Amino acid sequence: MTQPDDNRSKQLLAAHMARGRETLSDFLDTHGISLPVLGVAMEQFTESVFDLPEGAVCKKGCTYCCHLKVGVSIPEVLVIYNELAGQTTPEGFEILKERVLTVAAKGNTLEEAFWLGSQTPCPFLDVDGSGLCMIYSLRPFSCRAYHSTDLVACEKSFELKREALIPCFPLYRATTDMYASLFTRVLAEKGFFSYQVGFVKALEILFQNEAVSDQYFINKEDVFKTAKLD
Ligand code: SF4
Repeated sequence: MTQPDDNRSKQLLAAHMARGRETLSDFLDTHGISLPVLGVAMEQFTESVFDLPEGAVCKKGCTYCCHLKVGVSIPEVLVIYNELAGQTTPEGFEILKERVLTVAAKGNTLEEAFWLGSQTPCPFLDVDGSGLCMIYSLRPFSCRAYHSTDLVACEKSFELKREALIPCFPLYRATTDMYASLFTRVLAEKGFFSYQVGFVKALEILFQNEAVSDQYFINKEDVFKTAKLD
């Protein structure tokens, strides 16, 4: 049965979403739709993400969730790729490309079964070095949203290679995930192909063809259709 508090939370979330949509839409109407503008907008929304609530068991160096499928909005993956290209040396960029293409070649990264079964780490998890996310400040909204209040549930899901319902703070997760949905919806409203994509698959497309960003923004082509998540 739905509790009154659940209804209130849903109403608050819907109101928050509506405000965010309006803010983002107005911002893009004023400044135009380009990678730099989307980068600024994304930075602003990222700054609004709250710290993890007290009670979350997530700690630096705990990486169970960095072995799961990551879904992102198309603007997010375009901005992240662009930032990686701008912030890393050519050698560093080649290393990142190699890491992404190596994981992409291992199997169907759009399927959760691939990640659970193979226990493949995200290409940005520095497993042989610091053990941390190499793109922490740029990570997708879904990575920021994902958290747990039960470490044993995370361990079990990883060890048994089975998808599990990980206890979390649902409102925190929903509000943070909402930012990716905002970008997806507003871009769709403005005439772009816009849906959720697999992070690694979409990056594979970008690393393999430098013209993809232009094809997306200028020609409005459906360049990420093979990365679309159901
Ligand atoms: S981008 Fe970073 S936080 Fe997200 S899954 Fe990869 S390593 Fe983990």
